[in-house]
Formats: sequence, structure tokens, C-alpha cells
Amino acid sequence: MRDELTLLVLLWCIYASELGIWVPMRAVLFRKGQGRTFRTAEGFPGNAKGCLHWNHIFPYFQQVYLTQQAPLALSTKAVANQTGQSWAGSGKGSSANLTAIRYDQIESLKRDGSILFINGKRFVDCLAEMEAKESICTLEALKAATEEKRAELVGGYYKSRLSPDKDINEHLGNLNKATQKLRILCSGLFLYALVLCPILYAYYPAPHTLLYYLLSSVLFGWLISAEYFLLHRKLFPKEGAKRVQTLLKQSFCFPIAIGACKDITLKAKAAFDPIAMGKVILNAESYEDLCRLIWLDLKYPTQTAMLSVEATAHQEETRNHLIEATRSALEANGISIEKLETPASLDPGTVCFCPRCFSEYQKERATCTDCSGISTKAIS
Ligand SMILES: [Zn+2]
Repeated sequence: MRDELTLLVLLWCIYASELGIWVPMRAVLFRKGQGRTFRTAEGFPGNAKGCLHWNHIFPYFQQVYLTQQAPLALSTKAVANQTGQSWAGSGKGSSANLTAIRYDQIESLKRDGSILFINGKRFVDCLAEMEAKESICTLEALKAATEEKRAELVGGYYKSRLSPDKDINEHLGNLNKATQKLRILCSGLFLYALVLCPILYAYYPAPHTLLYYLLSSVLFGWLISAEYFLLHRKLFPKEGAKRVQTLLKQSFCFPIAIGACKDITLKAKAAFDPIAMGKVILNAESYEDLCRLIWLDLKYPTQTAMLSVEATAHQEETRNHLIEATRSALEANGISIEKLETPASLDPGTVCFCPRCFSEYQKERATCTDCSGISTKAIS
């Protein structure tokens, strides 16, 4: 009995590890609520260095979408691997590993899966293969363009992520319908292999019962893998490498196949900025909170790493492009920027506050204690 128990614990551990989702810096994980509305994961506040999110245990509710601020930080002269933005109060982790390359220094652009390589060196990890492919096209166009044309291209790059022409709502509805069958199959295998069979085996602990249990679960897992393969090929025909990799893992281990739905949806909306995605998924209150977090960080950035004069100029230009695109996206989505920048209420006796984290101070002070280098605002 002890060996069987070890096996069962092992299967559950493999499944539990599948539930963990890494949310990188400047990314937001959106998950479908159990009702008809969507809501955010706990992921975004305090997300200076990324965080681990645990997905819903029941496969039917495992519809999660990961979106990220633009992977490339573009200016008219160079490209950097991050914008130096960091949504949490302290800003730790921001721009510590910033690498910038001038367009005229770019000799080769390659990718391996979702990782983008410039001149043979690993440059940035995109969320999805498609995002890496699009990044290469953007950089090739920027390299070939004149400086004047580049300003237009850079603006267009941020605009397409922040205020996409495509209807995200319709996309999500289609994705929801397309994954319905897979979610039902995964939920079936979860109930069968991880709940029902272990209970039955506890009552009828014969060796052949265990054999039937394992064999049927593996076959059920293969059925899910086949459904995953066909659906993934239909939805993302150009992401072959990722599809084969996931399929192999699923085929060898049925608890991994139970989490197949997550593998379809997680990176499906990687081309959109969280501000574009949140508009469709979040309720008005959560959406405003998310917009405030992103907007105040753009407006009052914290800087922990010392950067060269050139890198600082690059970052400022990038941020200005991003601010401009974000401002028009917010206005188009009915968000008042003035409201985002104003604290809802202030304690009596407050003389100044931090415009980034809204910490209130009863005595006058020049900078915020939590946000390095951010000047406080006096209350008039
Ligand atoms: Zn502050």
C-alpha cells in the first residue's frame, strides 16, 4: 500500500507543479472568475521582480492570460531590453540589467522560441514565439528607416499594443468557445484520475485495479494531448516548436495533460498591453486600479541603477513614447488621468503626499521614504 500511496502523492505533486505560473516583471495575469466576469490574479501589485501565481485547482476554471508591457524599449536611436519601469513602490529590480544597442550596431537578429538574440547574444525573453517574430520585424524596419521615420515607427509599435485595432472582446469569446471541449476533457481526467480512482482503489486495493487505473488514465491523457495538438495548431499555426515541446511532456505524463487548457490560453494575448486587455476583462474599479499603477509608474519612475548618460537619454525618450501612447489609450478607454493622479482621500493633518505611492506625511519632507528620489507634493 505504501508504494501506491507514494505513486499517488507523486502524481498529485506533478499536477500541483503545473498549477504554478510565473508572472514576470511588468506583466499582469488575468484570470476568468468563477462567475461570468473576469478579474485579475493577485499578481500585479508589488510585482517588482515577478511573482508566482497558483492557478485554480479545477481545470474548468483554468483560463488564464498573461500580458506584459512592451518587451522592447525603443527610441529613435537604439533598442533596450527593458523600459526601466517597475510597478511596485520600491522599484527594485528596475533597469539593473539594462542593455541598449544602437540600430546601426545591429548585425544579426535571431530567435530561439520566444527568446530574441541580437548579434548572437541573448537580448530579451518575449512571452510568446509570435511576439519574438514580430519584434524581429519591428527591429529590421527600424534599422532600415531614417531617424524621422523611426519616431513614427516607435509610436506605432506602442500604439498597436496599447490600443489595438483588433477586437479583443471578440477574440476572447472565440477562444472561450474553442477551449470549452478541452476544459471539459481536462476536468474529466482530473476527477477520474486524481479523485475517483484513488478513492476506489482505497476500497478495492487489488493489483489489477491499479493497473487498469494507470492504463486508462494514460489513454485519457493521450486523448487530451490529441485535442490540445489540433486546437493549438488551429489557433497558433506558427508556434510549432512550443506545441511539440508541450505535447511530448503531456504524452509522457498524464497529470501534465490535465493542465492543457492553460497552455492554450496563457500566452494567447501576449501581443496586447495589460491596459488593452484589462479594459475587456476587468470590472471598472479593478481596471482603474491597474491603470493607476501603470500610469503613476510611468509618470514618476524610480531609478535604482546608475545608468550612462546615453542610456538615461534613451530611457527618457522611450518613456515619453510610452506615456504618449498610454495617455491616448486611457483617454480612449474612458479613464480620467486627473483622477488617477489624485488620492481618493487624505487624512486630516496631512501636509504633503507622495504622488507615486500616495503615502501621506504629517510633517513637511522633500522626498518619499518608500520611493527613492520621488519628490513629495504639498497640499495647497
Ligand atoms: Zn512613495
